[in-house]
Amino acid sequence: MDYRTLSIQELHSLLVSKEITPLDLTKAVIENAKKDNNNAFEYIMEKEAIEIASSLGEPEEHNLLWGIPFVIKDNFSTKDVPTTASSNILKDYVPIYSSEVYQRLLNSKAIPIAKTTLDELAMGGSGTTGHLGITFNPWDKTHKRHVGGSSCGSAAAISAGIVPLALGSDTGDSVRKPASYAGLVGFKPTWGRISRYGLFPFATSMDHVAYFTRNVIDSAITLNLLAGRDNKDATSSFVKVDNYLENISNGIKGKKIAVIKEIVDYTIDPVIKARFLETLDYLKMEGATVDFVSVDDKLLRAIYPTYIVISCAEATSNNANLDGIKFGVRENGNTYQEIMTNTRTKGFSELIKRRFVIGGFSLLKANQKDLFLKAQKCRRLIVDAYNNILKEYDAIYLPASPTVAPLFGSQSEKLSGEYLVGDNHLGVMNFAGLPSITLPIGFNEGMPFGANFTSKAFTEADLFQIATALEKHTGLKNIVAKEDK
Ligand code: GLN
Repeated sequence: MDYRTLSIQELHSLLVSKEITPLDLTKAVIENAKKDNNNAFEYIMEKEAIEIASSLGEPEEHNLLWGIPFVIKDNFSTKDVPTTASSNILKDYVPIYSSEVYQRLLNSKAIPIAKTTLDELAMGGSGTTGHLGITFNPWDKTHKRHVGGSSCGSAAAISAGIVPLALGSDTGDSVRKPASYAGLVGFKPTWGRISRYGLFPFATSMDHVAYFTRNVIDSAITLNLLAGRDNKDATSSFVKVDNYLENISNGIKGKKIAVIKEIVDYTIDPVIKARFLETLDYLKMEGATVDFVSVDDKLLRAIYPTYIVISCAEATSNNANLDGIKFGVRENGNTYQEIMTNTRTKGFSELIKRRFVIGGFSLLKANQKDLFLKAQKCRRLIVDAYNNILKEYDAIYLPASPTVAPLFGSQSEKLSGEYLVGDNHLGVMNFAGLPSITLPIGFNEGMPFGANFTSKAFTEADLFQIATALEKHTGLKNIVAKEDK
């Protein structure tokens, strides 16, 4: 049976009615995972997956994730399973504990299939900087296009139809941007909504557990399991968890939606822009009001520099533990300093070193006022601008990317508004910790692209409801880049 376009819900029905068993499904999934030619995987958990699938008893009708196969980005700690963050410095590292989200999935008897590739240590957006090399976009069979990053392997695995659920992390846009490039639903919750215990920290004030599904309902199903306080993560929230499925199909009559005009203007692909504007009519047809609002261009152009300064500073500090002593690979040296220098010189790629230099530079006492503290102030101004919009509106609606997945080697002009704003505006939701979801809205030359909704903190239920109303009109649900496409 070809299960590749089936949703979590559909697979659940088949599992509960015993039309398929978890073991048969797992075997089929592993077989497809082994055929992957997009460089999606760091490690296929064949032995573990078969063992778990064989041990499941009777189907659990009310547990929607029972027997559901999933993959997880290789920057989540998985007990006894290699975890490299796609970095040479963690080659062969095997954690002694599991991240909370992985543990919750195991507890609900979902089946872990593989650890997925990422841009090294989750820094980057190209899917090309992991120690296993480039991860390809399954929608382009000629392997000429990015799938995006940093959650590249998870995006590739789910869009190729291998699994219906793929976990990632999102510090700047690392799930919500690849979702656009790969025809997926990519969701990150409010900061604090899902425990980050066991997720390797990149920039703690902006890191979120996030994930890909192929439709909005599956995204809500997953949040029902993952949301909630975890005492092991002091930053996880005590705010009451909603049932994210309860009102998901109730429509959006009376909802107020804002579109930031400048960001639409920076969308360079005319097909994407036209299609995005067309989708506004769907929202109106459903009874929502849609208004264009403005954000100061200076603030918008400051998003990316602000992101770089803050994220590199936090990353430099967070990754100081990768010193060759405590974890992973150790190079020789006569002193602690020598071991550390040799290990870090050999262990990190150029991109990581560059970011640590930027981070170290902006944290230097002499530079803090001009760089780190200034970036914090910019962050506040940008967040205030977005929160002011959300005082009057239920959601902000924007193109998720200004282009379809780029060709390898194509260069954007780094100081252009198209790049600074169009390509990087999703980072604001990380500055602000707001829930945000990308979903597919169309295709251009065979490549998918998406749009993004963001709502107020802890209103994930509303967000799913709004996204569901749009999905109904686009019809772009459970789409998969099949081999025989
Ligand atoms: N592309 C961004 C970066 O380069 C985002 C990364 C992320 O969200 N992990 O850091």
